[in-house]
Amino acid sequence: MSRSSTVREIAAAAAVAAALLCAVGPAVASAARQHPLARRADGSSGGCVTATSWDYMYLEQQWPATSCKNCTENTYFTMHGLWPTNNDGSYPCNCESTPFDPSAVASIRTSLDTYWPSFQEDDQSFWTHEWSKHGTCSAPLYTSQLEFFKGALGARAKYDLYQALASASITPSNSATYQASDIEAAVNKALGTTPIISCGYHNEISEMGLCLDKQLQPMACPSSQPQQCTGEVGYPSSYN
Ligand code: AMP
Repeated sequence: MSRSSTVREIAAAAAVAAALLCAVGPAVASAARQHPLARRADGSSGGCVTATSWDYMYLEQQWPATSCKNCTENTYFTMHGLWPTNNDGSYPCNCESTPFDPSAVASIRTSLDTYWPSFQEDDQSFWTHEWSKHGTCSAPLYTSQLEFFKGALGARAKYDLYQALASASITPSNSATYQASDIEAAVNKALGTTPIISCGYHNEISEMGLCLDKQLQPMACPSSQPQQCTGEVGYPSSYN
């Protein structure tokens, strides 16, 4: 086979792959990030420790329009997780083996469906992951699955990021952009702590995290929790 025909074949294969990708359309444009401390500054993974103690809770909420192609326009952030975290940058995970039990959270199922949807696999797989990895480490604050999920949803409702931004006239837009520092200030003013902003493609807000103390009161994030996204950021009204 000549070199040029090999090149042509590779190019054709690449075109087919690209076309397939467009046709299928990723449900999630930018992968939601992992626990911010799961990846260290040097790029190595780590951070999960076997000890079950923790210093504060990290409430991570997602902005659906940035990552979710099939979501309708939202007026609220949805849950990613409530993560027990340590000041030194480590966090406990997979603390015990009780499996996620949908019947245990049946009474709050409607709220879970609304405010804690998966953008990737089915909702239940997402909740299973969050329970196993983080919820099992949430004692002594929470000692059951129902308490954990109820508590997390309660924190999401209390620390309403959409309203915090709206009260500073920062509203979703597919054309306007905002300074990350203005977003930080707006959330701090409304909710009492500066958020850690994460961005996906196009520097659009994908998630915002709040540090909460053991009583779930707002607290300043420790230095082991650095800001992720700075400068001019997008806050899209719909997936683009
Ligand atoms: P965590 O392990 O809790 O730090 O979260 C990271 C994992 O959660 C990754 O595997 C992500 O793909 C997944 N994830 C984050 N957001 C969502 C979402 N909305 N739907 C489904 N999976 C998600």
